[in-house]
Amino acid sequence: MEASETKTVKTICGYCGTGCGLLLEVTDNNITKIRGDKAAPVNKGQTCVKGAFAYKYVHADERLKSPLIRQDGRLVETTWETALQFIADKLTHIKEHFGPNAISMFACARSTNESNYITQKFMRAAIGSNNIDGCNRT
Ligand code: SF4
Repeated sequence: MEASETKTVKTICGYCGTGCGLLLEVTDNNITKIRGDKAAPVNKGQTCVKGAFAYKYVHADERLKSPLIRQDGRLVETTWETALQFIADKLTHIKEHFGPNAISMFACARSTNESNYITQKFMRAAIGSNNIDGCNRT
């Protein structure tokens, strides 16, 4: 039997837009503990309870690992290419039949600034709608 390997992985918390620096203790590819990174200028070693303790979802059996499309009332796994084409077709259909203001988008506070920027750009330039909001301002 091989010995367990534990390593420390430096990363950024993905829970909110604050972006605290974290140090993950990882044993055999599983997160076993999280500490705040004292070298991170945003949090200087501090974290909130979510950043420090809410990591079980990473290895949860129920975690979705591929896109799902509803077919005949059942969710069926599919590829990213198929899922993205499905979404593009639906958005195109809605825009053509009901106008761009029939579409709105909710951006995620857990995303990066760059992702949020490109999301609003997509809505305004590609869809033609200002209907965009997010939970960032809570
Ligand atoms: S540790 Fe808490 S405050 Fe810091 S980024 Fe994560 S969720 Fe936000």
